[in-house]
Amino acid sequence: MKEPLEQRGMPMTITTTPIDATLGAVVTDVSLKLLDDDTWQDIHKVFLEYAVLVFPAQHLTDEEQGAFALRFGNIEKLGPRQKTGVAPISNQKSDGSVVRPDEEGYKLLRGNEGWHTDSTYMPLASKAAMLSALVVPPEGGETGFADMRSAYDELDDATKEKLETLSAYHSLYYSQEMAGFQHKTDHLYGFHDKGAPLRPVIKTHAETGRKSLYTGRHAYGIPGMDPDESETLLASLLEEACQPPRVYLHPWNVGDLVVWDNRCVMHCACPYDTRHPRVLRGSRIAGDSETELAPTFKDERAEAFHPTSSNVSRLAHQ
Ligand code: MN
Repeated sequence: MKEPLEQRGMPMTITTTPIDATLGAVVTDVSLKLLDDDTWQDIHKVFLEYAVLVFPAQHLTDEEQGAFALRFGNIEKLGPRQKTGVAPISNQKSDGSVVRPDEEGYKLLRGNEGWHTDSTYMPLASKAAMLSALVVPPEGGETGFADMRSAYDELDDATKEKLETLSAYHSLYYSQEMAGFQHKTDHLYGFHDKGAPLRPVIKTHAETGRKSLYTGRHAYGIPGMDPDESETLLASLLEEACQPPRVYLHPWNVGDLVVWDNRCVMHCACPYDTRHPRVLRGSRIAGDSETELAPTFKDERAEAFHPTSSNVSRLAHQ
């Protein structure tokens, strides 16, 4: 008996159109819900090359997106309540109203407007992440991507040599404080007592071998440096890095899916009128412990320090 097409997967010849930046490509002539292994191999190859892939008009279900995310690796669950491969990245609450400026969700969404790479404030940083668009505001709300491979390549030799020896702590308490928001230790996800990971400022990509600047809004407190000096250095590196031709801003259309490589790309949310709903569906892919796991140290902003190499919230076990 013939299997239905949906279960068998369909061989496809993808079309990859580079974006006018040092990163990013639009991938067409592909249906992600019908993906077969050979087409996946083609996608993975261009993913490593372009670091950001845009798949227009995919209109995936939660299950279909979760299945595509699993092609990249294990799912990183963003909180004790996440059960599947997807989690909403949204300013809209279950009753249909939008989050107000005094609510935790609002503060996190606004914080995301700073350039960052995902989960560097957790023991195991993320490998990759994807977003798809379900509801988009009338204007604004793009997602920006910046190429940290190219940012590294453009540094002069003396700076490369200096940065090679440096590390920085990463903390969501820190980045949110810099964005003007205070948070308590709630153990839901980023506001944990696992400690602040210490990560090298230059990261070598495990699959491509390319070096990248690996800092972002969560990075602070380079050991051996005065805190202000460290902040100034990290801010100037980020400012310089996130400039054309290294930047692509994706204007969302409902049905789009975008996946990026958190090991060499920074991203940020662009502002929009938050009285309008903006509903994206996220999937975060866990890093590999050989290359994305970092030791953690006491985070002064957290209420306690219980070091662990696990990202899982203690509330997940209750
Ligand atoms: Mn993010």
